[in-house]
Amino acid sequence: MRKTTIGLIMLVGSLLPATTGAFAQGCPGNPDAIGTSRTLTVNPADFPRIGTMQYKRSLPLNDHEVVITFDDGPLPPYTGRVLDTLAKNCVKATFFMVGTMARAYPDTVRRVYNAGHTIGTHSQHHPFNLGNLGLARITSEVDGGIASVQKAVGDPRAVSPFFRIPGLARSGQAESFLSSQKLAVWSADEVADDWFHHITPAQIVRRAMRRIEAKGHRGVLLLHDIHPATAMALPTLLKELKAKGYRIVQAVPSGERPATVPERAEPMVAEREGWPRLVKASVVKHSAIKVRVAHHGPRKHTRHATIKELKGKVAEKLVRPHTASFDFSSLWSD
Ligand SMILES: [Zn+2]
Repeated sequence: MRKTTIGLIMLVGSLLPATTGAFAQGCPGNPDAIGTSRTLTVNPADFPRIGTMQYKRSLPLNDHEVVITFDDGPLPPYTGRVLDTLAKNCVKATFFMVGTMARAYPDTVRRVYNAGHTIGTHSQHHPFNLGNLGLARITSEVDGGIASVQKAVGDPRAVSPFFRIPGLARSGQAESFLSSQKLAVWSADEVADDWFHHITPAQIVRRAMRRIEAKGHRGVLLLHDIHPATAMALPTLLKELKAKGYRIVQAVPSGERPATVPERAEPMVAEREGWPRLVKASVVKHSAIKVRVAHHGPRKHTRHATIKELKGKVAEKLVRPHTASFDFSSLWSD
């Protein structure tokens, strides 16, 4: 009986009601941090479509309030650097993750969640024409993305019912489907063009600030945690926002979610879709780690690849040309 009571208390203690998200009551070790001023509970029934770039309404933000969002990740080195900057500044953001990326980097997905951020989804494969795909493809992209991120994070309740359409390629059919699934469709109020090739961190900061100011000094800002320029721009952007009197708001879902999830993910099991796919990771001899990766494409085959080969393959096929070097440690387990 006693054990049951303790277990119950622990269970209750491990769940976070949506309204008690992480508030920054000062930021330990960083008096200059902008922090997170409040959380805003976003229920899809109340906010089915968000963002004035495409819709009539955005979130009910007050003057000088900004919600920061990141799309397309996770990708360890850049997402990691973004997380470091957010932690240093006690800022909580929302990450719209791609299913295949979450499958490739489940430990990073968990790191994002355990740092107190909100996780939404952004489809399984990031097709740039989602709105024009048939209902069957829309369904599989949306559901597949959610399933992948839920599996990567290890607890379905850790994934918010927030969806951002890849490339903001909306359509009535896609929006109707998303509404039928009780998902809030997130567009944005501002972008900073951080996906442009050769854009500099300084340009990203300038565009973000100028557009936030132009949209009534508030809004949902869309960034990408997979680009080095974005990761480099973020410290300056947060500093500028603080200097201009802005406050950061974290959007959270209604309902309960786990306070934390286990840090390490189980090695991902091969699925029918997605790349790269880890079938099995094993240590061979002393330092040589071989990872079996199922390659899919014109030539379907499965083979063993060494780390060196993997680096080449992944850099060549998975990552955009200017993000060619990154940490592969989360691709396998030891
Ligand atoms: Zn995207």
